[in-house]
Amino acid sequence: MAVIFSKIGIIGGGISGLAAAKQLSNHNPIVFEATDSIGGVWKHCSVRTTKLQTPRHDYQFSDYPWPHTQQDDHTFPSYMEILDYLHSYANHFDLFKFISFNSKVTEIRFLGDQETMAYESLMSGKPIWEVAVHNTNSHTIQRYAFEFIVVCSGKYGDIPIIPKFPMKKGPEVFKGKVMHSQDYSKLNTQESLQLLKGKKVVVVGYKKSAIDLAVECAEANQGEEGKACTMVVRTSHWTVPHYSVWGLPFYLFYSTRFSQFFHQRPNQSLLRDLLCHLFSPLRKAASKIIESYLVWKLPLVKYGLKPDHPFEEDYASCQMAILPDKFFPEAEKGNINFKRASNWWFWEGGVEFQDNTKLDADVVLLATGYDGKKKLKLMLPEPFRSFLQFPSGMLPLYRGTIHPLIPNMAFIGYVESVSNLQTSEIRCKWLSRLVDDKFKLPCTEKMLEQITTEMEIMKKSTRFYKRSCISTYSINHNDEICKEMGWSSWRKKTWFAEAFSPYNSQDYEEDI
Ligand SMILES: Cc1cc2nc3c(=O)[nH]c(=O)nc-3n(C[C@H](O)[C@H](O)[C@H](O)COP(=O)(O)OP(=O)(O)OC[C@H]3O[C@@H](n4cnc5c(N)ncnc54)[C@H](O)[C@@H]3O)c2cc1C
Repeated sequence: MAVIFSKIGIIGGGISGLAAAKQLSNHNPIVFEATDSIGGVWKHCSVRTTKLQTPRHDYQFSDYPWPHTQQDDHTFPSYMEILDYLHSYANHFDLFKFISFNSKVTEIRFLGDQETMAYESLMSGKPIWEVAVHNTNSHTIQRYAFEFIVVCSGKYGDIPIIPKFPMKKGPEVFKGKVMHSQDYSKLNTQESLQLLKGKKVVVVGYKKSAIDLAVECAEANQGEEGKACTMVVRTSHWTVPHYSVWGLPFYLFYSTRFSQFFHQRPNQSLLRDLLCHLFSPLRKAASKIIESYLVWKLPLVKYGLKPDHPFEEDYASCQMAILPDKFFPEAEKGNINFKRASNWWFWEGGVEFQDNTKLDADVVLLATGYDGKKKLKLMLPEPFRSFLQFPSGMLPLYRGTIHPLIPNMAFIGYVESVSNLQTSEIRCKWLSRLVDDKFKLPCTEKMLEQITTEMEIMKKSTRFYKRSCISTYSINHNDEICKEMGWSSWRKKTWFAEAFSPYNSQDYEEDI
């Protein structure tokens, strides 16, 4: 088959891919989506009880708010509501015409000259990348060539992380069923009920997916026939029941310009550095206030779930999960138990721990996460694949988007914040201006310098820095993006609002 040449290719039809398609629509991009639907994780990694954890008004596109009827709804939308919202966004901006479903990018080849490639010639009219696309319906391969590629294949989903076990202690010796959360999310309500009802279930993990799975196990095991589910917790993280702390709105602690003033940020002056040092007790106090509230509000001590690290570190690594209402009530009823263990393995009747205790199990659900970087590595050719490897373990991306050594390619969705939709959207706006030559990228050395500085800040803020999260300096990050786009970075109407109200997507509506 002849190679189809087009200007821009986008890989992935999740939130990042949709935002990229919208912002780059003037170039008629081709969006490849491996599955038969848009939505990414909301379609393929969600279980019946999955809800958004970000407040609704923070998780909306700047030019497409949630419907009026839902604007004042302070509940967290279910994954179905999010999918509906994304469908209406895609319909409203006529994005479906760009999307090629059931089209999995299996290989990317570099056609350009690596020696001379630089970011000065983004849209040169010449093909730079060739991608092989496998049609999962017809099982045919079509090749496309592009001047520019936007990779939006997602940090989560597709490649599950399965723990490694010593010889003869893996799932092969277990008589029951082992399933990763990704496979569980493919089951319908009836199938999941059948899997869990009356079964001794072990859920491995203590992040959002694990918590949702434990609630589903508890719900399926009500009544006398029901069996308790046990969560195996290696590292406990702070979970919050809602966005208010001792009666104060949560955003006051981390999401305003004033609150972020006390946190380290890249490229700060020596004076700011000093101020950050001086104010570090204030930062610690904010974290302690939240911790004291959570310990008071939730039975964390009773269940041995009080994390060993400060709240701030979970916030700075985007790991704070919102608790489903039923979680601790089900634990109180005895339907959810907890086992703290850093090491475990299988025996034929269940799982065993390093303290030599054993747990009987019929089903073991692994909520052990995903390997988003491996997904990228499988697609990219050498030497670009090895450029993704950085000593810190993080993806080295300028403005969370451009790898300085990989020409004519952008990555959206790999830097996180409290609202990943907002983080992806603003980067797509920035990218569309870059592609349209409205500004130029700095030289490779400068980009690498900026990346290294950001990584240092993340490392100083949290031990979980590998997640590439900017939540404690997101406003400053967006300020710099705005400046590069030629937008004003202080975007509120009054000084008071500028200092004390949170920044959300609507603040980054187009500058006309
Ligand atoms: C359970 C769960 C809850 C979450 N809750 C929140 C929350 O409350 N707030 C928040 O901000 N974030 C949350 N997140 C993070 C969430 O991942 C982001 O908000 C956002 O949805 C990511 O969108 P994305 O488009 O970058 O990636 P994805 O949603 O992963 O989409 C990637 C898409 O690319 C496609 N794809 C992958 N590889 C290929 C290929 N080779 N060829 C073609 N297509 C490909 C996939 O099929 C998928 O559709 C949550 C994540 C999970 C898993």
